Amino acid sequence: MADKRIMEKYAELALRTGVNIQQNQALMINAPLEGVDFTKVVVRKAYEMGAKDVHINWVDDELTLLKYQNAPDEVIKNYPDWKVQLQESFAEDGAAVLNIRSTNPDLLKDIDPQRVADANKAAAQALKNFKKYTMNDKIAWSIISIPTGDWAQKIFPDKSREDAIESLWDAIVKIVRVDKEDPIAAWDSHNETLITARELLNKKNYQKLIFKAPGTDLEMELPKGHIWKGGSAQTEGGVTFNPNMPTEEVFSMPHKYGVNGTVSSTKPLNYGGSLIDNFSLTFKDGKVVDFKAEQGEDTLKHLLDTDEGARRLGEVALVPDESPVSKSGLIFYNTLFDENASCHIALGKAYPTNVEGGSNMSDEELDKHGVNDSLTHVDFMIGSDQLDIDGVKEDGSTEAVFRKGTWAFDIK
Ligand code: ZN
Ligand code: ZN
Repeated sequence: MADKRIMEKYAELALRTGVNIQQNQALMINAPLEGVDFTKVVVRKAYEMGAKDVHINWVDDELTLLKYQNAPDEVIKNYPDWKVQLQESFAEDGAAVLNIRSTNPDLLKDIDPQRVADANKAAAQALKNFKKYTMNDKIAWSIISIPTGDWAQKIFPDKSREDAIESLWDAIVKIVRVDKEDPIAAWDSHNETLITARELLNKKNYQKLIFKAPGTDLEMELPKGHIWKGGSAQTEGGVTFNPNMPTEEVFSMPHKYGVNGTVSSTKPLNYGGSLIDNFSLTFKDGKVVDFKAEQGEDTLKHLLDTDEGARRLGEVALVPDESPVSKSGLIFYNTLFDENASCHIALGKAYPTNVEGGSNMSDEELDKHGVNDSLTHVDFMIGSDQLDIDGVKEDGSTEAVFRKGTWAFDIK
């Protein structure tokens, strides 16, 4: 286990830089039972910082697995109303939401992918309204991770459980800058770098990005009025928060009808407890028309069949290959980390805030602007030190954006 001082610093960072908890604000936390010690530190600090109510939704891998193994189909296919109401009532009250995600990536490997897909779809449908609060930055939210035993041993298979947890703490602490004397100041300066990158891309206003790497040759149109975001976000009420810790990306949205060519994954994707690995997707006019996977092809098919929008893209994110996650040399089998090691794209719903005026557009207007909609949003990694990206400007000229997996510009 991490020492007490580290836990205190990490909890403080999650509350200040992550959700930026305000006086008299409620806080809802989704936390793994294995992380009870850390969660207690977070709760104590949240009250010290002025939170009025802290509610925890406990999750546990073993209990989740028991449900998948034993519950009848109608239970798996139903996301209960009371759970929806609980989350919506916190959101309506303007609560902050802190997600502590530490699932064993292999947890559901022996469960029928159809059951997993059914449960994911039921949750997505039931939480559609709740998700509007987070996906439109109406409330402050943040996702962090702490080590759990099974997950740590997936990353460090040769180590004892205890040593694996210790090693994962070491890795996470470095990646989220908790090893720095003043992690909050370190995040402030990191956010400045990301803001420089996003402002540069917004000024460039590329019409199109072209991705080239082994197994990848993809042309991606960007919608008119697209916005690059990255680093800290702001709620409608003006509170600055960090949705993901770590975060190394600047991101925008592809045009839902303007993606053509083939893209290959560069890291395994953990989708709801199942792994999809070494896969490629071929797009025509924005839609996946062909796909293959060395591992988890069935799971990938279920993901693509979630709904119409699951076959189109909702996010494009640029991450230099020398990010601290990438430098760790580890594969985390957890998107929060792996996506921050690598350029990535997402199947499914786009963030409406990635296009001018998007938060207030009707579904028809969003479609007209090329903004994808879906029940799902799943990031997968396409970056490597062999990835080149070109940007096509308004006048039709082309320039280098990424070379060998990193910025072709000076960003600092
Ligand atoms: Zn992303
Ligand atoms: Zn994403």
